[in-house]
Amino acid sequence: MKKEYLLTPGPTPLPPQVSLAMAKPIIHHRTPQFQEILKEASLGLKWAFQTDNDVFIISSSGTGAMEAAVINLLSGGDTALVVQGGKFGERWTEIAKAYGIALEIINVEWGKAVSPEEISKKLKSNPQIKAVFTTLCETSTGVDNDIRAIAAVVKESSAVLVVDAISGLGAVDLKTDAWGVDVVVAGSQKGLMLPPGLGFISLSARAWKLVEASKSSRYYLDLRKAKKALDKNDTPFTSSITLVIALNEALKMMQQDGLENIFKRHRVMADATRAAMQALGLELFAPLAASDGVTAVKVPAGIDGEKLVKTMRDTYGVTIAGGQDELKGKVFRIAHMGFIAEPDIIMGLSCLEKVLTQMGYKFTLGSGLAAAEKVFLK
Ligand SMILES: *Cc1c(COP(=O)(O)O)cnc(C)c1O
Repeated sequence: MKKEYLLTPGPTPLPPQVSLAMAKPIIHHRTPQFQEILKEASLGLKWAFQTDNDVFIISSSGTGAMEAAVINLLSGGDTALVVQGGKFGERWTEIAKAYGIALEIINVEWGKAVSPEEISKKLKSNPQIKAVFTTLCETSTGVDNDIRAIAAVVKESSAVLVVDAISGLGAVDLKTDAWGVDVVVAGSQKGLMLPPGLGFISLSARAWKLVEASKSSRYYLDLRKAKKALDKNDTPFTSSITLVIALNEALKMMQQDGLENIFKRHRVMADATRAAMQALGLELFAPLAASDGVTAVKVPAGIDGEKLVKTMRDTYGVTIAGGQDELKGKVFRIAHMGFIAEPDIIMGLSCLEKVLTQMGYKFTLGSGLAAAEKVFLK
C-alpha cells in the first residue's frame, strides 16, 4: 500500500469538503440555484483578491487568464514591459509576442526578485509602455516579488500593472486595491485548493479603459462579454459548473480562516521548510526573496536531482516538484500552499531526509525535521 502526498506548487491537495461538493449530481447553469452559487463565489473571489473590482471566472487553466489579460488590454503594435525572472515571466513574453505586442523586457537573474527602481527607469525611458506584466510568486524559482513597491512605481506612469498571481493568490498577501494593482490573474489549482481548470482575472477601472480601446480580435476570452454576463450573474458560455461549486466551497473555508491566518500559516510553513534546508546543509535557490508559497532548493553536488524527486514519488508516494527548463535537475521545489499543512511538511521533510540518505548525501538524520519542528513549536 502506498499513500500519496502531494507537495507540488500546482496542483495542490484538495480539501475533502471540496471533493465532496464535486461529487454531487450536476445542476444546470442557467438556473436560480447555480446563479446563487455564482453570486456567492464572485463575492468570495473579491474578498480573496482584496478588490472591489469584478473578478471574472474563465474556464481554462491559469494561462488562459494570462492570455485574456494580454489580448483584452493591448492590441498588436502596442508596447508593454515584461519582468522575466523565471519560466512564468517568460510566459508573459511568449503570449505578448504571439499577439504582436512590442516588448521591453527586464531580465532578472533566476532566483532574484525584480528591482522596482529598474521598472521605474524603464517606464521613464519609454513612455509608450501601456502595461507592465509581472509575477507575484515566480513558481519556477520560488521567488516572491515586491508587488507593493512595484505598484508604487507603476502608479507614477500611465501604464497599468498586471500581476500573475496564479500561484501566489491565497498564499501570500496581495492587496489589489490598496496597493493599486490594476489587473490580477489567478488559477484554481494552487493557493485556492481546487483542481486545475479555472482561471480568474480582475481589472481596475483604469484597465477597463484599455479593454474598451483594444483592437485585438477576441471571442472566447472577450472580457466585455464576460462583464455583460456577470452583471446579470451569469457567464457568457457554459460555466465550469462543478468547479465553480467547488470554488464556492473552498472560498467559504478560506473566509472562515481569514486572510491573516492563511498568510501566517503559509509563512510558518515556509519558515519551517527553509530552516530544515539550512539544517540539512542545503542551499535555498532564492535566499533573498524566498516565497512563502514554495521553497526552491539547490540540489547538492553529487546528487541526481531528477532521481531524488522520482524516488520520493515512485517509492514513497511523496510528490515534490523538480526544476523546470534551465533548472531541470538543479533544484527541487517543496510547495507549502493551499491545503498543505504542518503534518504534510513533516511528512515531506522526513521522506526527503530518507531519500537523501539513501543517495549518499551526508548530514545528521533528523536534523531537518528537528529544525522544522522548532519553527512549528514557536
Ligand atoms: C502554474 C502557474 C502558471 C500556469 O498556470 P496553468 O494553470 O498551468 O496554465 C502561470 N504562472 C504561475 C506563476 C504559475 O505558478
